[in-house]
Amino acid sequence: MDKIYDVIIIGAGPGGLAAALYAGRSRLDTLLIEKEKEGGQIVITSEIDNYPGGLREETGPSLIARMVDQAERFGTQKVFDTVVDVSLEGEIKVVKGLKGEYRAKTVIIATGANPRPLGCPGEKELTGKGVSYCATCDAAFFEDFEVYVMGGGDSAVEEAIYLTKFARKVTIIHRRDELRAAKSIQERAFANDKIDFMWNSVITEFKGDGILTSMVVTDTKTGESREIEADEEDGTFGVFVFIGFNPHSELFAGKVDMENGYIVTDENMRTNLPGVFAVGDVRVKSLRQVVTAAADGAIAASQAEKYLGDNIW
Ligand code: NAP
Repeated sequence: MDKIYDVIIIGAGPGGLAAALYAGRSRLDTLLIEKEKEGGQIVITSEIDNYPGGLREETGPSLIARMVDQAERFGTQKVFDTVVDVSLEGEIKVVKGLKGEYRAKTVIIATGANPRPLGCPGEKELTGKGVSYCATCDAAFFEDFEVYVMGGGDSAVEEAIYLTKFARKVTIIHRRDELRAAKSIQERAFANDKIDFMWNSVITEFKGDGILTSMVVTDTKTGESREIEADEEDGTFGVFVFIGFNPHSELFAGKVDMENGYIVTDENMRTNLPGVFAVGDVRVKSLRQVVTAAADGAIAASQAEKYLGDNIW
């Protein structure tokens, strides 16, 4: 008969890795399933200043590398597979991947969220050709070029500050005239000579044949549009889009309770299905941070242990 794990964790971001650490330390037979590489959203984050105990100049990848190492030390098994279907209602949960089928008594959903696209013409075609959603990954391509950042939240403003290490000028384009980012982050941006602001504006089209050469920006107050072209000598420029995230929850639609695409849990990370938990950015919560995802993971693993102990198998 197929192996039955105590816990399957789907997703290896901070929430999944913390769950793996706690489950491993509780000697639960644990399988962590990750699609591509560990880390989730946080590996596309250049600087992390607010994770307690984080190192000076901590980056997403450096923090995640230590989390992975720690989870592995306590015996979590790991498989790289893309989950395509789940059956979560029975006592034994079934998780189907492209490479295999996995079974467990409990499941912790830690699938996170994806960067939200603007959805304007030219965006898809020019992604990776001037349009990016990851400063850590792509900033170096824009050494000494002009760069624009779309968005006014923590991600947009923090990544704009990071991009000033590479680009000769960074312009934050925001749809209102006031940033949403935390005040401490705003202050750093306002004090940075390399950062300009374009208020009450949104990008409504990207243009270019194989590489981004211009974009249309529309004034959100007047509705007027204008085209911004690449500097003639540069031939191109960069646009980094940070306008929030979409929960990665399609797999669970109609199977667990959701609100606006986010999975509903109680404070013990329990979903409406016995033995099924959700942690991190994919669940309904007020603060989506590494520290809250990690806390969710710890709680879910301890609740999974409790659930396993309370039931006769
Ligand atoms: P966010 O807080 O949801 O901000 C999204 C930004 O994009 C907002 O400024 C929003 O404008 C704008 N926006 C949304 N849809 C848009 C559209 N269709 N067109 C143009 N602009 C649009 O997202 P985030 O900055 O990625 O942050 C997500 C979560 O992670 C937040 O909870 C944040 O606090 C957290 N985070 C924390 C840190 C940190 O603490 N260091 C770093 C990164 C992220 P409006 O302001 O007008 O709504």
